[in-house]
Amino acid sequence: MLNIKTGTKFSLEHLRENPMKKTSDVNMLKEICKEIEKEGKVTGNHLKRLSAAFGLRFTKAWNAVKERRIKKYVFKPSGRIVWIVVGKERDYLVMPAAKFCSCEDFYFQFDKGHLCYHIIAQKLAEGSGRFDLIEEQDHFYKVLIREWKTVETKVSRKYQRGEEATT
Ligand SMILES: [Zn+2]
Repeated sequence: MLNIKTGTKFSLEHLRENPMKKTSDVNMLKEICKEIEKEGKVTGNHLKRLSAAFGLRFTKAWNAVKERRIKKYVFKPSGRIVWIVVGKERDYLVMPAAKFCSCEDFYFQFDKGHLCYHIIAQKLAEGSGRFDLIEEQDHFYKVLIREWKTVETKVSRKYQRGEEATT
């Protein structure tokens, strides 16, 4: 029986993982998501492997998926897609095509191929079809992006001042 509460504790050690391992993490996540998509469901086996690979990040990602906190915004008529992971303090903007997330975890480590829990959550939500689809008109795109970005700037300023950032 899988206990997802026993995920590895997030610590600075986590940030110093070998970059080769990060690459295999990305591939593993892709692979498992492909399986989930093909099988049309998330099985215990998937959860076990994800938990082993991502620990606490997986736990947080899976909770977000279960709590239906992943939103897919499709803008019309352009067909532009933006994913939002609704966090406790704020929303996170995830752009899978650009492999981008607006959180601090991603910002400070993206060059190391680090996957933050939002990107993991987005992939899991997409693979398992567990997300809310929201359609908006194109003219809302800039408004919404500005809104999401405003929050992001505030948070990164706070982060630069050395205060603890919450995710
Ligand atoms: Zn993130």
